[in-house]
Amino acid sequence: MRSSRQAPKLELIVRCDCGFEARGDEAKLVPAVQRHGREAHNMEVTREQVLAMARPA
Ligand SMILES: [Zn+2]
Repeated sequence: MRSSRQAPKLELIVRCDCGFEARGDEAKLVPAVQRHGREAHNMEVTREQVLAMARPA
């Protein structure tokens, strides 16, 4: 079901220790960071972990 008509899209930034940086709204940022963790660090990152790292842009 698609019913994401709630919060306005917030731009967030996540900066990794390695220098990698991702920005975008939650829907874009979370998979980007999860993929970076997997590919660059062999780490599985949960959505909660990504959001905990994120800061408003
Ligand atoms: Zn990294």
